Amino acid sequence: MKTVGILALQGDFEAHRNAIERASDAAHPAQAIEVRTAADIARCDGLIIPGGESTTMWKLLEMEQLVEPIRAFAAQKPVYGSCAGAILLASEVTHPVQAALGLMDIAVERNAYGRRIDSQIATIQADGHDMEAVFIRAPIIRRAGPKTRVIASFAGDPVWVEQGRHMVTTFHPELSPNSPVHRRLLEKL
Ligand code: GLN
Repeated sequence: MKTVGILALQGDFEAHRNAIERASDAAHPAQAIEVRTAADIARCDGLIIPGGESTTMWKLLEMEQLVEPIRAFAAQKPVYGSCAGAILLASEVTHPVQAALGLMDIAVERNAYGRRIDSQIATIQADGHDMEAVFIRAPIIRRAGPKTRVIASFAGDPVWVEQGRHMVTTFHPELSPNSPVHRRLLEKL
């Protein structure tokens, strides 16, 4: 049984916990735990940084002294970031510029869809299959470096990207009934 930690400082961590429980099966059995300390991180085989508000989450990561423990964890184990979590995994953040973990070679622009379509439910294709994608004040990945692989795009922009063991989505698969993203994370553990 593998253990997936969900960073639970802020944001929609509860929904990820349920998504991991739904994705767990005989081939990839996993449980989810909430992570708030470096000791919690040490118990995990993989880590999810959920959606929420990335400026607040970054401040809380610094206050709780979790930035270096997460970087050290990421040097060996997979980290998946959804929406605000994707912003925190990036190596470059704009609109406004802010610090991030730099775990993936991507540049993201926050709140990039503007007010008119800031939240929506779309159908996207991932590896040849249709899937639902819930966008909530999402960032746009403006650059995905040569070591990344784009698994899904929407309106011409990458929305699900992986780089080695790590992965980001600019949407919220934890809010859809059946998440191939969480299944993929379990395969990486
Ligand atoms: N707009 C948020 C940010 O920039 C992200 C939104 C989300 O996680 N749903 O941090």
